[in-house]
Amino acid sequence: MKGEVIFVGAGPGDPELITLKGMRALGRADRVIYAGSLVNPALLQHCRPNTPAHDSANLTLEDVIKLMREGVVQGETVVRLHTGDPSVYGAIQEQMDALAELSIPYSVIPGVSSVFAAAAALKREFTLPDVSQTLILTRMAGRTPVPDKEDLSALAQHRASMAIFLSVQDMGQVVRELLQGYEPTTPIAVVYKASWPEEQVIMGTLANIVAKVRTAGIRKTAQILVGDFLNTEYARSKLYDPQFTHEFRQGSPEQ
Ligand code: SAH
Repeated sequence: MKGEVIFVGAGPGDPELITLKGMRALGRADRVIYAGSLVNPALLQHCRPNTPAHDSANLTLEDVIKLMREGVVQGETVVRLHTGDPSVYGAIQEQMDALAELSIPYSVIPGVSSVFAAAAALKREFTLPDVSQTLILTRMAGRTPVPDKEDLSALAQHRASMAIFLSVQDMGQVVRELLQGYEPTTPIAVVYKASWPEEQVIMGTLANIVAKVRTAGIRKTAQILVGDFLNTEYARSKLYDPQFTHEFRQGSPEQ
């Protein structure tokens, strides 16, 4: 089989936030299958004129695999465009496994996840010394169940920096579960459509965020970021501390 499938992370929305490698893959694609609900259609401009582009929004896994197979047997390069980074809530494992079953070659080009676009919009760092050195990526259970051991209330016990996908429609429940671990004064941000022109940022605390999100009318396509990293109090990093020696820099002794 001469053809191949390339899974490409499209980035969070801003069409400039795809990787160069992903953009080049689009440029040589013979057909594209994209997740129409969240992938910016402007990215399709990187394809050659008249490249067939299929929106996967109303396709089943079987339909998608059929489209891929059809292309690959004709020697085509098929690009499968997924929002953000495809390894996070991308449902790509089942596609990769089906391709492996059919002995269809495939590869994956990573992308900028919306979790990082949200941190960029807020101009915050998830990993602050003395605050948190851990970032939890999770979601509330919806039609897709979440294993019991990963209940939001259980994860909240760590009081780490946390990003919650796919859950803003249940903001009340999210906050109730977070309060099992975090203080009511803990800062929380909701970033709607990070990196899109219609981006919106709502800041608050666990005590008041539900009302703010309701007023803003945000019900989907948002990151919920929670944790003390959103505060401004923290210790400075060791890496750039003048007294700290590491592989690339000899520290100066304490004055
Ligand atoms: N693979 C994607 C996530 C897909 S799941 C990624 O890496 O970002 C879809 C969820 O991602 C949405 O419900 C929302 O929580 C989040 N999301 C996707 N794009 C977003 C954006 N531009 N801004 C904020 N959240 C976004």
